[in-house]
Amino acid sequence: VAKEKGNRYHFFDAALNAYITRRMIIEVELKKAIDRNELVLFYQPKIKLSTGEMVGMEALLRWDHPKLGSISPTEFIPVAEETGQITAIGEWVLRTACHQNKVWQDQGFQSLSVSVNVSARQFEQGDFIKIVEKALYDSGLNPKFLELEITESIMQNTCESIQALKEVRELGVKTSIDDFGTGYSSLHVLKELPIDTIKIDKSFIDDIENKTNLSIIKTIIDIGLNLNLDIIAEGIEMQEQFNTLDRLNCGYGQGYLFSRPVPANEFQKKISDEMIA
Ligand code: C2E
Ligand code: CA
Ligand code: CA
Ligand code: CA
Repeated sequence: VAKEKGNRYHFFDAALNAYITRRMIIEVELKKAIDRNELVLFYQPKIKLSTGEMVGMEALLRWDHPKLGSISPTEFIPVAEETGQITAIGEWVLRTACHQNKVWQDQGFQSLSVSVNVSARQFEQGDFIKIVEKALYDSGLNPKFLELEITESIMQNTCESIQALKEVRELGVKTSIDDFGTGYSSLHVLKELPIDTIKIDKSFIDDIENKTNLSIIKTIIDIGLNLNLDIIAEGIEMQEQFNTLDRLNCGYGQGYLFSRPVPANEFQKKISDEMIA
């Protein structure tokens, strides 16, 4: 036993320890994040590729902790999903995004649709539909200007979750399949879920010149057109990617080429500049 206690093992223990400690801190601090107003929504424009006009924006969550600094959603969302905190956080995101969009509409900006990311776990709460209804009612936002982005992982959920998705859509809310093509059952998803939009995953866009990626993108666009769904590509960073996607009749796009996700005040400046232009 003593022999196994070499330096390597000590190093491993230390790394694991640091990981567990950080995770525990995140879990504890996240409980207070909403009340302390540490959560913020950033917004990233969605662009109609054929005209270049902005049609909507995706709300992306940021957590600014006073001591830990800015924590990425890729780090804290999985923790929130595991602990169930995603329920309260998701509700805050939904309410904030609906409210903000209505404020912009009331200020006279062109009506844009706001997309909100929803974890599969949120559909497991029995009252998800009520939460969406209440966010719409309290904000006064027309349901057609709200879109929910879900991932294929919702297929692992019970029938009740899929039923909840159907009911949300019956309210007039739009639905989108995020990261499309990365799951194991993408085609099955299209058959089973009531959706309006397919979002082609960034991994296919990154190396769009690759023959396999290009074929996959073409196929997804074809399926989308045949099923009467909107297609949006995520992670467009370069003009060549834009050109290729536009040529392939991909309807919409999103990415750093157009804009990074920005805070609400900066986004507002963007849409007012666009209105003047
Ligand atoms: P996602 O929904 O796939 O969001 C797209 C991610 O790609 C965002 O990262 C966005 O900032 C980033 N991105 C957009 N355009 C580009 C680009 O051109 N290049 C590159 N390299 N990246 C780009 P972000 O904001 O860090 O969010 C990461 C993930 O966290 C999201 O992936 C989503 O799964 C999750 N997330 C964010 N906000 C929420 C939320 O409110 N609720 C839930 N449940 N998940 C969220
Ligand atoms: Ca998304
Ligand atoms: Ca995505
Ligand atoms: Ca993605």
